[in-house]
Amino acid sequence: MRQSFSIAGRDIKPGESAYIEMPTVALYTDTEMSMPVYVKHGKKDGPVLFVSAAIHGDELNGTEIISRLIQGKQLRGMKGTLIAVPIVNVYGVISQSRYLPDRRDLNRSFPGSTKGSLAGRIANQFLKEIVSKSDYGIDLHTGAIHRSNLPQIRANLDDERTNELAKAFGVPVVLNADIRDGSLRESAGELGVPVLLYEAGEALRFDELSIRAGVRGIVNVMRSLDMLTKRRSKLKYEPFIARQSGWVRSTDSGFIRYKRTLGELVE
Ligand SMILES: [Zn+2]
Repeated sequence: MRQSFSIAGRDIKPGESAYIEMPTVALYTDTEMSMPVYVKHGKKDGPVLFVSAAIHGDELNGTEIISRLIQGKQLRGMKGTLIAVPIVNVYGVISQSRYLPDRRDLNRSFPGSTKGSLAGRIANQFLKEIVSKSDYGIDLHTGAIHRSNLPQIRANLDDERTNELAKAFGVPVVLNADIRDGSLRESAGELGVPVLLYEAGEALRFDELSIRAGVRGIVNVMRSLDMLTKRRSKLKYEPFIARQSGWVRSTDSGFIRYKRTLGELVE
């Protein structure tokens, strides 16, 4: 029999799932705050996967992705353990902001410390309670306000295992992305936890295509990790692999009218 899984002072038995309100750093007003954490601890052995959303408080597609993932039927018979955090930056979600109340970017505040800034303390708690107990991670993001991203995975493609999982996700574009200082991906990497970063849609809006591609992608990765039963007919999907990315800027002022849609190949 598998052992129980402990998180935020709770023990979850094999075959059980739990929705935990993990107490986190209080507001300046001393108002208590909590981070929602869903844990599904499978009966059978397997890897521990964390899926996190809204580390940037205005990036909401991931919250809906996790909601559909845990309420759907796809996770039946799951092996291993899933830790899903639909809202990491609860403060930013309340104020519809990417940032924390101390104006710091949570995804530049890792690994943080117990004596650090508000952002540093939250980052540190997330690292200790969630990341360090995981074998793999998927972090869900979106583009900025009024700027939509084609569903894509950003990851360290030079790492063989990460590369495999990035392709297994099954989105049109996989981008080899440099690690940013203070990011979750950097700190998780130092703990030996490969993290895929999913980027899709824009901030403050739900985008149906991005949400569906996200749910399907996580399920695909879980199949690839043997947490879920593999499909018999394996859909072969070859993403476009990008080794670099850049901005195309207009040299003139004015308004823009798109002649091409997102995802079209251009020269
Ligand atoms: Zn983001």
